[in-house]
Amino acid sequence: MTTLTHLVLAFAALLPTAGGVEAPPPAKLLNVVATTPDLAALARAIGGAAVDVKALAKPTEDPHFVDAKPSLVVTLNRADMLIEGGAELEMGWLPPLLESARNDRIAAGSPGRVSASTGIRMLEVPTSFDRSKGDVHSMGNPHFLLDPVNVRLVVTQIAQHMAQVDPASAALFRDNLKNFLATLEVKAAAWQKELEPFRGAKIVTYHKDFVYLAERYKLEVAETLEPKPGIEPSPIHLAAVIGTMRAQKVRVILVQPFQNRKTAETVARQTDAVVLDMPQQPGVKPNTATYFDLMDSLVHTLATALQEKK
Ligand SMILES: [Zn+2]
Repeated sequence: MTTLTHLVLAFAALLPTAGGVEAPPPAKLLNVVATTPDLAALARAIGGAAVDVKALAKPTEDPHFVDAKPSLVVTLNRADMLIEGGAELEMGWLPPLLESARNDRIAAGSPGRVSASTGIRMLEVPTSFDRSKGDVHSMGNPHFLLDPVNVRLVVTQIAQHMAQVDPASAALFRDNLKNFLATLEVKAAAWQKELEPFRGAKIVTYHKDFVYLAERYKLEVAETLEPKPGIEPSPIHLAAVIGTMRAQKVRVILVQPFQNRKTAETVARQTDAVVLDMPQQPGVKPNTATYFDLMDSLVHTLATALQEKK
């Protein structure tokens, strides 16, 4: 390349882009890896044009039991940041991947490592625990992102860590955080309003994955199809669930894509209930790529069903 070409390119980089289009992203993007797509969506919202974000789990995978493919080791080896849910959500698959990845930038305790559960008021912290029974919620319930109050804490933490790892983009992260929190405040009020008429309504879930949503909007999880988190439904347990649903007139069962819909449908047939597809990961349903769109969809699906089955 000639010196002149160099100069022209250098000047071109300084020029504002025409038509109000966003300025070109910095040459070296911060390589952010999130364990799950919901955390990745939050990282994208805060990191904006300064980051490249990948999720290790597919949106249709159970976050407790992700397929630990070798390609994930490569992804972790190249990461500048790792955002995990924490509270042992990823305990079954992340530690061996991290060991193979040998990447000090994302070691526990370094600025490049975010554990989303830090500072969260955990629900269902067990007083005693026996892993031999398959219980995967040993540190309390790790499915806390459906409570907007928790998301506030998580995005704030993500912004702080991003600013430490990439100080040159700190102002961008701060602005994105500010905008996100402003939108969150408006959205949270709308979700509260939409679910308010159903205060006290009872729901059944497959796994204990909607307890934070239930707590925030004063719904009651009457039963779960799993007898314990991570344990397959047994016929005896399902018979008890059916009994409870009939006695308490529970008419909705919430399932995620990786859960056994057939089991849920069998129970629904015997209880005049409806099975609701309620994926907690963005992108499973159309137009749910962001946290706000995902929550809009979940809240609306639930409110509509509770209204119809009232
Ligand atoms: Zn779980």
